[in-house]
Amino acid sequence: MAANRKDKVALITGSTSGIGLGIAHVLAAEGYDIVLNGFGDATEIENTRKEIETKFGVKSIFVGADVTNYDSVAAMVAEAESKLGSLDVIVNNAGVQFVSPVDEFPLDQWSKIININLTGVFYGIRAALPGMKKRGYGRIINIASAHGLVASAGKGAYVAAKHGVVGLTKVTALENARANITCNAICPGWVLTPLVQKQIDDRAAREGISVQQASDELLLEKQPNARFATADEIGAMVAYLCSDGARNVTGTTLSIDGAWTAQ
Ligand code: NAD
Repeated sequence: MAANRKDKVALITGSTSGIGLGIAHVLAAEGYDIVLNGFGDATEIENTRKEIETKFGVKSIFVGADVTNYDSVAAMVAEAESKLGSLDVIVNNAGVQFVSPVDEFPLDQWSKIININLTGVFYGIRAALPGMKKRGYGRIINIASAHGLVASAGKGAYVAAKHGVVGLTKVTALENARANITCNAICPGWVLTPLVQKQIDDRAAREGISVQQASDELLLEKQPNARFATADEIGAMVAYLCSDGARNVTGTTLSIDGAWTAQ
C-alpha cells in the first residue's frame, strides 16, 4: 500500500525526462506534492505537471531553474516553500554525459559536466538545508551512478563528478546526523533513458552495427544481469529512502546496478 505523504513536498531536479520523471511519478503516487524542474518543451512540461495533479490528486509546480545557477536554485527552493508550504525531500538528479579520452576531453564539456553533475548537487543541498533544519526534517537523495563507485574509460568528467557526489553525500550526512535529516546517494547502473539512448546510438553509428546490437553490447559489457533498470525502479528506491523505515539509513550509497559493481 502506498504511504500517505499528504502535506509533504518533494523537489526533483531534472524531472522533465528519464529517471527524474520516474521518481516524480512514484513520489506523487505516495502523496507528495511535487516540484518539477528541468528543460524541455513548455507544452509537454505543462501537460506532465497537470497529469501528475489529476492522476495522483497532489499539487505540482514546475520551476525551470538551471541547477548551475545558485540564485535560481535558491529561488526554486523558496518558491516550493512558499507555494507548497514546505520542502521535505530534495532529489538532486539533473545530470548530463559526454564521452572522450582524458587527453582530448573538451574543456567546455569538462566544466559543463562538473557544473551540472557535481556543483548542481551542492547547490541543491545548500539551498534546501536551512529550511529542513528549521523544520527538523529532511530527506536528501543524490542520484550518483555506478560511476560514483567505479570507473569506465572515456568518462573522466562524469566519473570525477559522480565520485564527488558520493563524497559530498557523506559529509552532508555527517553534518546533519542529529538533525533528523538523512542524505544518501543512489548508484544506478544502466537505465534506459534519453541520456543512455544517445550513447547507444553513438555506438551503433561508430561501429556500424544495429541499434539493438549496440544496446546489447553496452549492457553486457558492464551489467551482469543484462537488463536495464527502469526509472520507476529508481523511484521505488527513493521512496524507500523517504520512508520511516529508512530513518537510520544515512551517509551511504545504494546500488541498483544488476551486479555491475560486484565485479
Ligand atoms: P535524461 O537526459 O533523461 O534527463 C536529464 C534531466 O536533467 C532532464 O530533465 C534535463 O532537462 C535535466 N537537466 C539537464 N541539465 C540541467 C540543468 N543545468 N538544470 C536543470 N536541469 C537540467 O537523463 P537520465 O538518464 O534520466 O539521468 C538522470 C540522472 O541519473 C543523471 O544525474 C545521470 O547521471 C544519472 N544516471 C543515469 C543513468 C542511466 O543509465 N540513465 C545511470 C546512472 C546514473
